Amino acid sequence: MPARVLDGPAVAAAIRAAVAPEVQSFTSAAGRPPALGIVLVGDDPGSEIYVRNKVKAGGESGLTVELLRLPATAAIDEVLTLVRRLNERSDCDGILVQSPLPAGMGRNATQRVFDAIDPAKDVDGFHPVNVGKLAQGRAHLTPCTPSGVMVMLDHFGVRIAGARAVVLGRSDIVGKPMAQLLLSRDATVTICHSKTEALKSVTAEADILVAAIGRAGFVTPEFVKTGATVIDVGINRVTDRSIAAAILGQGSPRLGDFDRRGSLVVGDVHPAVAEVASAMTPVPGGVGPLTIAMLLKNTVSAARARAGV
Ligand code: NDP
Repeated sequence: MPARVLDGPAVAAAIRAAVAPEVQSFTSAAGRPPALGIVLVGDDPGSEIYVRNKVKAGGESGLTVELLRLPATAAIDEVLTLVRRLNERSDCDGILVQSPLPAGMGRNATQRVFDAIDPAKDVDGFHPVNVGKLAQGRAHLTPCTPSGVMVMLDHFGVRIAGARAVVLGRSDIVGKPMAQLLLSRDATVTICHSKTEALKSVTAEADILVAAIGRAGFVTPEFVKTGATVIDVGINRVTDRSIAAAILGQGSPRLGDFDRRGSLVVGDVHPAVAEVASAMTPVPGGVGPLTIAMLLKNTVSAARARAGV
């Protein structure tokens, strides 16, 4: 039987519905809505789309969202100055600096900028203070994508405590916090990466398999235990039609989308995994919408905590 499809937009709608009364009560108490400042540096097309969606979702949920732009030629000190100004502003509750920063800013630029954000306003949960609190199981603001995955698992009643969970990918923004969150809920967690040996045999032990590697269709059925829950975090734009057809199958109606647009977004998990897994997230329409919903939730949480509500 094909895997149950874990519907991301439905979970995102539930998160946003839960956030709405909190926005209202904060606005009544504080005399202003929760406020998010987004810093966008440069003109990376992917970042433009992500930021546009964040601004739109924030506005729809009754938040004040201020977009502050800097050109791709900006120096890192200009970004740091902007962040410090937002830190000091009492009418700003959350700060998000969209990554990636332009390559010209240097290798450590992103971490330097994340380090400069007031931890109380760090709605991405990337500041070392919040990363440390997450490791200690007492985080207030946790990274949006992995915490969205946790909400999704709970929403669909997936057992976490005692389950064997494997996280494929060890980035600071997805893989590591994902593993911490699963561990904090009593899963037995293994993290895999590009140097992991006998990768398939490790992932094939997972009751919950989270793929976050950025490799189109990489996770094929041999990676997956029968009956596992598979969460696909990957977002990969495929521009070669033959690769899209190899992943989706020649008969896939999505190839029509490819023909119209010249590209297609696919996840890290091959669609054939649906024949083995008991439940899995689609791409698009899986984890993606949860990230923005959790950003709204974190912004409201930050606003309430700062105001002592
Ligand atoms: P990174 O590139 O920062 O990290 C990728 C990780 O995958 C690394 O740990 C890397 O290992 C590992 N990896 C890469 N190739 C392999 C392989 N062949 N076998 C095993 N491990 C491998 O990516 P991110 O964590 O930032 O993002 C991962 C994916 O999730 C991307 O597709 C991204 O677009 C997507 N994403 C989706 C979001 C959403 O809202 N749905 C939000 C954020 C990201 P190593 O450390 O050894 O190099």
